[in-house]
Amino acid sequence: MQIQTVHDPEARITEILERCFTLSRQTSIPSPEELPQGFRGTIGHFPVYFPEEIAYAAGLLPVNVLGGGNRLEMRMADARMGSFVCSICRSTTELALNGTLSTLEGFVTHPICDAAKHLAGIWSRNLPDQMSQILYLPQNVNSRGATRYIRDEYWRLRADLEKRIGEPISDDAIRAAIRVYNENRRLLRELYQIRRDTPWKLDLVECYLLIRARSRMPCAEHNILLKEAIGAIAERRRAAQDKPRVVFLGGFCEQPPLEMLETIEDSCFVVDDDLLIGLRWLTEDVAEIGDPLWALAVAYVERSAASPVQHDANKTKEGYLMAMLKESKADAAILTAAKFCEPGLDEQLAWSKHLDPLGIPYLVLEFEEKMTSFEQMAMQVETFAESLLFALA
Ligand code: SF4
Repeated sequence: MQIQTVHDPEARITEILERCFTLSRQTSIPSPEELPQGFRGTIGHFPVYFPEEIAYAAGLLPVNVLGGGNRLEMRMADARMGSFVCSICRSTTELALNGTLSTLEGFVTHPICDAAKHLAGIWSRNLPDQMSQILYLPQNVNSRGATRYIRDEYWRLRADLEKRIGEPISDDAIRAAIRVYNENRRLLRELYQIRRDTPWKLDLVECYLLIRARSRMPCAEHNILLKEAIGAIAERRRAAQDKPRVVFLGGFCEQPPLEMLETIEDSCFVVDDDLLIGLRWLTEDVAEIGDPLWALAVAYVERSAASPVQHDANKTKEGYLMAMLKESKADAAILTAAKFCEPGLDEQLAWSKHLDPLGIPYLVLEFEEKMTSFEQMAMQVETFAESLLFALA
């Protein structure tokens, strides 16, 4: 990526965000001719916990498949899936069937829920030329054997990718990828720190677009983009506004439409969230020495972000919600869930039952990636924000 030469920070950030916005609308993947230098193909992965470093080391561009958004017309997927299945599973299947994802070398999903688990079977029947895999994550991450088990699963993934590319993936290559991703993790933490400290300097949608760009570009290029963006954001001259501080939860898998995020930030500062957690699920650096698969497995067990689809006794539903509220100094929570998302809806109920006796205000919302109408939601969020400001006055 070319380093920006424009000196006005607003103009620089606008330029970067325009590129990110275009990428966010892109459901297609780079064709073999469009691949960035150094890459031989693309590998698709479904949210949430995919170790991109292994694919990156194989010269396969990891593409986080995040559904079809609210502009995809469903023609074929409905014949393969029930109408009670969440939107991201149905639209991802549609993209597979309509040829949008036909140049992927393979697709990896996880057993995060029944719907996601069955995607691999649909994939292998309908796209037999692609590698189709389920990366099995541990049911009990607290057991003594969890790290070794994950390391073995990563070993299996590496072996499958090696078979696909026809050559070994060296430990050195994986360690080099870990270094690139560690830098990305540091930059993403910086981005979220800006949101927590000075939310008026970086809107929710802007932050979201900056992160989402990595679903369609190499991590090293994304690092350059983030550095450039963070530099411009630091120079921004924006005045603080009188808005309540809230955290947003429920965006760990299916992604809410951008318009919904805009609707929320019209009335609130969203100072932390779980959006796109699949692109930032390792919260701290991974060891850059020793067995790289072991290092990644240790990081999954010890330093991965909590979500409704990970079962870890050390990260209770209530615990990570409260930590998020405390660390971001939020006044309230917006608890969302994607329509038909069982893990998300379970968590939403547990969160609201936990917040009730504590008297912490929250707003419950449901979304679908294909939503197009936001008027009613805007009224709900506005009323919620006004009640918060009144209570805080
Ligand atoms: S949105 Fe929920 S139900 Fe759908 S694939 Fe993701 S976790 Fe599963």
